Amino acid sequence: MKIKQVVEKEFVHVEELIEASGEGLWKMYPDGEVVFYNKEFYKIIDIDPQKAMIDDWIRLIHPEDTKQFSENLTEHISGELSRFTSQYRIKSKMGDYIWIEAKAAARYDEKGQFLYMVGSHMNITKRKEYEKMVHDLAYKDQLTGLYNRQKLSEMMKSENSSYRILYMNLSKFRMINDTYGYEAANRVLKLFAEALLAVFDSPEHVFRVDADEFAIVLVGSYSDENIKRLIKHFTLGFKELIYAFINGLDINLYMGLSLPSEGKDENLLEQAKWAGLYAKRKELDYCVIYNAEIKEETERGLFMELGIRKGLKTNEFFMVFQPIYKKGGRAIAFYESLMRWESREYGKISPDEFIPVAEKTGDIVDLGYFAIQQSVEMIKFLHEELKHEVPMSINLSVLQLLDNQFVSNACKMIDEAGISRRWIIFEITESFALESNQVARKALNELNSMGFQVALDDFGSGYSSMTILLQLIFSKLKIDKELIWKAHQDKEVETFIKALTYLCHSKGIEVVGEGIETIHMSKNCQNMGIDYEQGFYYSKPLGQREIFEQFIN
Ligand code: C2E
Ligand code: MG
Ligand code: MG
Repeated sequence: MKIKQVVEKEFVHVEELIEASGEGLWKMYPDGEVVFYNKEFYKIIDIDPQKAMIDDWIRLIHPEDTKQFSENLTEHISGELSRFTSQYRIKSKMGDYIWIEAKAAARYDEKGQFLYMVGSHMNITKRKEYEKMVHDLAYKDQLTGLYNRQKLSEMMKSENSSYRILYMNLSKFRMINDTYGYEAANRVLKLFAEALLAVFDSPEHVFRVDADEFAIVLVGSYSDENIKRLIKHFTLGFKELIYAFINGLDINLYMGLSLPSEGKDENLLEQAKWAGLYAKRKELDYCVIYNAEIKEETERGLFMELGIRKGLKTNEFFMVFQPIYKKGGRAIAFYESLMRWESREYGKISPDEFIPVAEKTGDIVDLGYFAIQQSVEMIKFLHEELKHEVPMSINLSVLQLLDNQFVSNACKMIDEAGISRRWIIFEITESFALESNQVARKALNELNSMGFQVALDDFGSGYSSMTILLQLIFSKLKIDKELIWKAHQDKEVETFIKALTYLCHSKGIEVVGEGIETIHMSKNCQNMGIDYEQGFYYSKPLGQREIFEQFIN
């Protein structure tokens, strides 16, 4: 009691000063009694300033902050902490929480016995709001309220438990933006964020990492089955939401899942993105799990999409020429020009791999002109230097035929080189596209009427249409190597090719057998009435120099 009276006396002098400072002042005795000074400060808190116990105060502290507060206090009283500073939330009379910064020091008698503690309270709600605003600006996506990529990077560096990352990319987002407008696209993103939060545990694990790209951190040991179930639940719900928002719009998600990690793994987002990108490029509507091959394949595909254009400028493309022989190999009837790509980064890349990519990117048009220009030069070389007057076959993609400048440009290139059109055979494969596309059929007929020869390539592989063979004008039919090889083992196929050759001849179409690798295949071709043979048995595709050397020897 004596101590209390002394302390009270001392405080009378400073009380007015405290009221002016805007801070709260308090003192606490060993029995837990607390006295608060500055009525103005404490009037928003439901506590009696003259008659309160520390437990009354603790009861008003935010449940998430109580533990830290009590620990600090005990450590300080026991002398482990020299100064006591604590920031916590306390309930106001209005029911909301205000942020308090408490600072205090304890007093002890000469025997080290705790006498009392005195300290201040400052309302730091504004400062905390400002800090939160700055934090949100740095770490949160303003549109959806989700955490951003920056926050995810920091989390990946610090997360100690094992986790996986699920990456999601919306299909058609650009289309929604272009067709339905900016506001609608934003709404789709918000719906997406809401749907994610409803299914995947806590907001601190859901991130918007780019415009239409999201990542979910799955902390703990999720089995693949577990993840699949969550994804299914999520996608069904989300698709319905979108379908209702934009009437009838069917949206897809491309998803990738990283491998599990033991924590603190900064590569996981990259892994999940590679897997997601793989799903996007292949238009897969299920979640792809990362592995090294997926990354390699995707990287190679992406490289090719940009590399073709670049490689064309830096002379990485060139043509080789495969001689095609009259039946039995009596003489070279014509050559087929075939494109090659020797990439600086990846070495030799087969046309079976890069032609479809060029068709996808549209680079096939420029590659096609390159093939014509190189083939024309080779024809001039064969005719003028080697006096070897034979035609040259050039492969065409239907996409080239769809370019309305193609026929006139091709004519110009060939005419300007001073080469008669009859020396050019255009080979075309995609009978399906020819069957369904009027523009391509028209262009093909134009090539015919301008004096070029046209051949139907790879007959018997994939989709091959008899209708096209009979409807359009072809001077040659090239039977695909797979079918030729089958005929070698299967009598029925052999009979079919015989009948086909007979039919072609009756229409004035000559037949070429591809993939002749042995003398037996060659004999078989002759048996079936095939006019020309192309294959490694006779010759591989050759460069200009090799052809020249064969001629002079
Ligand atoms: P294609 O037009 O059917 O060309 C024949 C392919 O068969 C060539 O493959 C040739 O090297 C290969 N070949 C020839 N004889 C044999 C043989 O005895 N055995 C085996 N196993 N293969 C043989 P390549 O050069 O790899 O070309 C593949 C395909 O790429 C071509 O098939 C063609 O569809 C396309 N392509 C090549 N160059 C061009 C081009 O300049 N433009 C377009 N649009 N496509 C091209
Ligand atoms: Mg061909
Ligand atoms: Mg072919």
